[in-house]
Amino acid sequence: MNRRDLLLASLGAAAVPGPLASAEWRMQPPWRSWRVDGDRVARWLVELSRFGTTPDGGVSRTGFSDADVEARAWIQPIMREAGLEVAIDPAGNILGKRPGSDPTLKPLLFGSHIDSVLNGGNYDGDVGTLGAIEVARLLAEKGYRNRHPLWVTLWCDEERGLTGSRGFLGQVAADELARPAGAAGPSLADQIRKIGGDPAAMAGYRHEPGSIAGYLELHIEQGGVLDQTGVAVGVVEGIVGIRSWEVTVTGFANHAGTTPMDQRKNALLAASEVILAVDRLVKAMPGRQVGTVGRLQVRPGAQNVIPGEVEFSIEIRDLSTDTLDRLWAEIRGAVEPIMARQGTSWAARERASNLPAIAAEPVRGVIDRAARGLGLSTRSMPSGAGHDAQNLARIGPMGMIFIPSVGGISHSPREYTRPEDVTNGVNVLLQTVLQLDQAAEGAVR
Ligand SMILES: [Zn+2]
Repeated sequence: MNRRDLLLASLGAAAVPGPLASAEWRMQPPWRSWRVDGDRVARWLVELSRFGTTPDGGVSRTGFSDADVEARAWIQPIMREAGLEVAIDPAGNILGKRPGSDPTLKPLLFGSHIDSVLNGGNYDGDVGTLGAIEVARLLAEKGYRNRHPLWVTLWCDEERGLTGSRGFLGQVAADELARPAGAAGPSLADQIRKIGGDPAAMAGYRHEPGSIAGYLELHIEQGGVLDQTGVAVGVVEGIVGIRSWEVTVTGFANHAGTTPMDQRKNALLAASEVILAVDRLVKAMPGRQVGTVGRLQVRPGAQNVIPGEVEFSIEIRDLSTDTLDRLWAEIRGAVEPIMARQGTSWAARERASNLPAIAAEPVRGVIDRAARGLGLSTRSMPSGAGHDAQNLARIGPMGMIFIPSVGGISHSPREYTRPEDVTNGVNVLLQTVLQLDQAAEGAVR
């Protein structure tokens, strides 16, 4: 609650006569009472679910698929009806712009994505996208004069690797464009061309740090924290960084019948100890970091041969780069004595890592106040999943609004978010956009 709200509450607002109370009333802008049309968003969600629908009620609308192309064609007229000037940028993102009244202000962006994983659900990305369009539509209906240019952004090909938002930042290199977008098939450049982008123009297309006033994304949580705790809105602290390694443990493959137990160099035994150590060390450190060994390959992989080589993955995630560094140092330190004891050796190769992306503190504050102003409970939480917002955080203040996923299920046909939660989320997005638009320039930085 800010000073003004506190004052209003303590005064009992309208019941109190006098110059102070009436002056405070006049300071309440009319848009504070504006609410989105949740039924319209619910209808759009159903209509969008038709593109790529699967027999079990899920959706397969992977980036650049025919279903994706059709859904993108369906959504653009809806964006125009919402008063947006719609264009496709070189990277294939659909941008719907609402000009601002102050030419000196940078654009304020909000949106999400409409591509899905194979056999995914109908809320991941869809809620934030349609919610953003609903916000724009309401502003058009109300005749709101926004100060900042407002851009509704539909990032392309989110699920496979945040392609559209990376393209927006100028981070999709020529060699990536030349490679197939999937395991095989047409090049990424061809796919971007297929959805109306202009890959040839991507080399000169970039948005630099400081070029936007901010970025907001409404998204389903995709985990079960909000659902389990009965909290309406998650204010995202940031998107966790991910570091991962391919680890190879080398022992000596030998006869499982003739090699005495004290003369073995069993790579699988050593790897097993490492896997247990990863779990123990991740849990032992205070904080919310997570660590996983999700892949394991044993060679030669025969019943009667002592494993000579094991390859496995280690992945750790946290909001703090420092925590990730310290955790990896501890894991490394634990591995050495295991190798010595087992008579094995090891090597770790780090794979591409994602840096943590922290949501801007002032934006988090605005989201929290907007939600509370709507009578909604909130909690701060990290995002364990990746989002386009992590890229946008590199060029301006970022904020994400989470709403509950029933049962914490996502990337599944059983993904579900209740209509009232969707409406709440879109109202929080609306009020956050309005408050950021009204904030003095630089106030959200
Ligand atoms: Zn998503």
